Amino acid sequence: MKTELEAMKKNIAGLAESLGQVTIMEVCGTHTASIRKYAIRELLPGNVKLVSGPGCPVCVTPEQDIAAAITLAEREEVVFACFGDMMRVPWGERSLYSLYERGKDIRIVTSPLDALRIAREHPGREVVYFGIGFETTAPLTAALIEAADECGMENLSVFCAHKTIPPAIMQLLKGGSSIAALLCPGHVATIIGAQAFAFVADELKLPAAVAGFEAYEIMAALLCLLQMLHRGERKCVNMYPRAVTEQGNRVALALLDQVFEPCDAIWRGLGEIEGSGLRIKERYRKFDAACKFKTVLGGVVDGAGEAPGCICARILRGQSIPTDCPHFGGACQPERPLGPCMASSEGSCAAYYRYGG
Ligand code: SF4
Repeated sequence: MKTELEAMKKNIAGLAESLGQVTIMEVCGTHTASIRKYAIRELLPGNVKLVSGPGCPVCVTPEQDIAAAITLAEREEVVFACFGDMMRVPWGERSLYSLYERGKDIRIVTSPLDALRIAREHPGREVVYFGIGFETTAPLTAALIEAADECGMENLSVFCAHKTIPPAIMQLLKGGSSIAALLCPGHVATIIGAQAFAFVADELKLPAAVAGFEAYEIMAALLCLLQMLHRGERKCVNMYPRAVTEQGNRVALALLDQVFEPCDAIWRGLGEIEGSGLRIKERYRKFDAACKFKTVLGGVVDGAGEAPGCICARILRGQSIPTDCPHFGGACQPERPLGPCMASSEGSCAAYYRYGG
């Protein structure tokens, strides 16, 4: 494998010589972590730059949703269930973790279906699951809602902040940018299929490669992108065929369609994007925490604001890298993050911190 990596490194360097400055965006937070972990940046020539995009689900969850989650978690009757990465995302001076320290009943789950068990164990409480993530995790939330419906669960609801990646890529890159090519998210593509990223080549006129997460898979995808740039080709290539098909996972897509419908959604750093959110369909609306707790959430105001100097929004747009931030590694560290990109294990700042800035 080392020999293959060396060969790819050499080929990339050769191609890059003819290309000038090339900026490639890795959309997925797991790619960012892998790139740092495997020191991929150090294998690339100086004129090939990698920047993160809006592919960390915790990071793109907007302040108003964090505020709403904290408001729900504070209620006496609520058992709040969420992924661990959400716990330290700050909203001003507060976070879910700070509520947990104050004794609020907040449970870290590893699967949305854990919330079903918690609801069964606590029939006198209201269990609220915080549904975040892209097409990869949304089918599991759909499965939770379907299961809750099947067993007539009354004390379970989902605060749904799920989002879909293609509209965000379109919003970010339409009209031109400094991004020359796209490393498309392998996990999301396992669900929606490689063809779902064809618009990157067809409409945005950029080379795209769906990539896996091992060092050789990322290097192979980068090599493929540089070859396309060199030849002037604009295609979307599936470089992760061991996990990704052209059409995606039909069972998961059918489940998504059964439970959710598209809606406009606000992304941290990107603003409101048409059709980029997933809303629980009318048929399952009794499991929608936004409806169940409408009166409570009606009074929530965001307004805590990003920490002064935090540049998470710029990082999520690919306009900055974590080491550009004055707080990186100083005032802001994973144990006491000032922004979501350091709070989440898939965040760009956390990856730079963990594997070296
Ligand atoms: S290092 Fe901290 S303060 Fe700076 S951008 Fe990242 S999360 Fe925000």
